[in-house]
Order: sequence, then C-alpha cells, then structure tokens
Amino acid sequence: MIKTDVLVVGAGPVGIFVVQQLGLIGLKAEVVDNLDKIGGQCIELYPDKPIYDIPALPICTGESLTNNLLEQIKTFKTNFHLNERVQEISKEENKWKIKTSGKKTFIAPNIIIAAGVGSFEPRKFSVKEAEKFENNGVFYSIKDKTYFKNKKVCIFGGGDSALDWAVELSKFAQVTLVHRRDKFRGAENSATVARQLEKEGKLKIKTPFQISSIEGNDKITGITIKNEEEKIEKIPTDCVLGFFGLIMKLGPVAEWGLNLEKKTIPVNTENFQTNKEGIFAIGDICSYPGKLKLILSGFHEGALAARACFKLARPNEKYRFEFTTTSKTLQERLGVKKSD
Ligand SMILES: Cc1cc2nc3c(=O)[nH]c(=O)nc-3n(C[C@H](O)[C@H](O)[C@H](O)COP(=O)(O)OP(=O)(O)OC[C@H]3O[C@@H](n4cnc5c(N)ncnc54)[C@H](O)[C@@H]3O)c2cc1C
Repeated sequence: MIKTDVLVVGAGPVGIFVVQQLGLIGLKAEVVDNLDKIGGQCIELYPDKPIYDIPALPICTGESLTNNLLEQIKTFKTNFHLNERVQEISKEENKWKIKTSGKKTFIAPNIIIAAGVGSFEPRKFSVKEAEKFENNGVFYSIKDKTYFKNKKVCIFGGGDSALDWAVELSKFAQVTLVHRRDKFRGAENSATVARQLEKEGKLKIKTPFQISSIEGNDKITGITIKNEEEKIEKIPTDCVLGFFGLIMKLGPVAEWGLNLEKKTIPVNTENFQTNKEGIFAIGDICSYPGKLKLILSGFHEGALAARACFKLARPNEKYRFEFTTTSKTLQERLGVKKSD
C-alpha cells in the first residue's frame, strides 16, 4: 500500500509537468503509466519529430522535451510505476484507493488523470489460446531479456521492435522470426542484420507466415504457422512474442464513474476537477469549452489542478502563492538554495 498526496495517471508530458507543479507547493506524487517508458505520445508516436510551439523552446523533439521535463523534476525523486495500468478507483474514508494491473495499491486524497487519449495497448494475437498463455509464454513486451536465455522463442512482427528483439535475443536464445509478408517494415539495416544472422544459422526466418495455433497445457510446447496457401508448419517453442504495434483505448478510465463526453472527461476550468471531488483531469483527456489539445494547454491545466490538490492534501494549511524567482521556500524545494 503506497500512500501519497497525489496519484498521477499517465506519464505523458502533462503528467510529468504536473509533478513539478505539485513538488513546488510541497506535495508528493506517484506516477503510473501503462507503457514501459515515460513520455506518452511524444515518445511513443513521434520521438524524433520537431515540436515548434513549446513556450521558450523554439524547437525540440518529442524525446528532448521528455528529457527536459524529467530533468526539471529530478529534485523531487518521483517514483514512476511503468508497465502498470490504473485499473480500479474506489473511495475509502475520504481518500481514493487506486489499484493497478500489477496489483499495486495507492491511497491518496487526490488523483490527477493525465491519461491522454487513453492507454496504449499492444495489438494482440487473434488465436484464442494466446489469452490463456498471456504472461505465461505469450508476451507483447520484454521487461527482462535474461528470461529468454537458452529458450526457444518465436517472434512475430515486421517492424523495428520485432527485428531488434530477434537480433538481440538470438545472441542467447533459439529464435525464429515470423512475419506475414516477405519484406520487413523496420529499418533496412536491422532487416539486413537479421538476414545475415539467418545465413549464419543463428536465426530462423519464416515469411510470409502467420500464427495458426498455440499448443500446450500448462506451458506452451509449440505453435503452428500457416502461409497464404494454408501450408502449415509446426515449430516447437517455449515462448511467443508479438510486436504488432500499439492501439489507443480509453480503457479502464471509462469505468470510474466519471462523466464522459466523446471519450474525454469534462472538467471545470477553475481547477480542472471532474464530477468527483479530488479527481482532476488535465491534458488531452479533459474537455471544456475552447479546449486545445496542445501540450502548452496541458501545462496550464496542471498548474491549476495542482493548487486545488493542496486543499485536500493539507486541509489545515493555507496555500500561499509565490514566485520561484523570489521564494526561498520554493528554491529550497527545487534544491537550488540550501535551508539556513
Ligand atoms: C504526431 C503528433 C504530433 C504532435 N505535435 C504536437 C505539437 O507540435 N505541439 C503540441 O503541443 N502537441 C502536439 N501533439 C499533441 C501532443 O502530443 C499531446 O497533446 C500530448 O502528448 C498530450 O499529453 P498528455 O500527457 O495529456 O497525454 P499523452 O501524451 O497521451 O500521455 C498519456 C499517458 O497516459 C497513459 N495512460 C492512459 N490511461 C492509463 C491508465 N489507465 N493507466 C496508466 N496509464 C495510462 C498512456 O499510456 C500515456 O503514456 C502531437 C501529437 C501527435 C500524435
């Protein structure tokens, strides 16, 4: 059970920046994100693309913006709980109890939802046995590559993730890379390396093939794949990895009893609170008259929501507005001035 002042759902640019706004006013935040990395759309969809409308940054990329935002909150030593989807929210004695897909539980007086367009979810195998074996032989991401050491692994997909992991895991596992087309979509260089490894007998490649079935009782023992002519091949395997890209789903946010409007959460523009006290929504997920789905709008929304969180987290204290340029307290919190 983790107690905190504010639980932030989503580690996109807006979720990261709100941590800074909370930290400045002395509130502690924990951040949960479904993805295996921090940065939301900026990192998942356009890490190398230039952004030209972040105030005072004439140009940055999705990746450099994320890195700068993280640098700005370094002093607060915030915990990011990655690969965890916020699943359930319930009220318990004036506080919110938040449960994640990884069975973590948080208790907080405030929740800030900065969930963007919802959670990014991996596209999954369509064969019915895949669900039964999910996380027990069937995986859509790799948390610890050593898990696959000396195992027989079948990797599906034609993009960069499939190619890169096939090359990497072939160093210590028996890897078969399966793709439904002959040509790979990923970087040409990675495809060339994979083909070279195939020639050297270090990697097997099966194209154009798709999965047909997964076999086994408690554990996977093998799979069958088929091509367009319905030719079936059996491959003995311990693990199956699918890298078919991500889809965006509103996901569990829709089940938390919040008002919803076209897959967004309506909020007031005074403090970005939803229809539930202590639950705020900022960034792309929130809606109000005139809402702009821009990063800079999310930053403003976060600044106001953070101040509103103060009331519930410190009911006996009075919030005092201060500037970072002149406030000793804020500079101490930022770690730029030592306390006397
Ligand atoms: C190609 C492209 C170019 C863009 N260019 C610009 C630009 O130039 N300027 C600009 O201002 N904006 C731009 N945008 C828009 C900008 O990226 C978004 O406005 C911004 O990312 C919104 O930030 P956010 O933090 O609200 O949400 P997101 O970045 O979407 O992050 C939300 C995070 O929440 C997580 N999440 C959702 N639900 C859950 C859950 N239940 N549990 C745990 N985690 C969850 C998601 O996994 C995700 O990581 C662009 C967008 C795209 C796609």
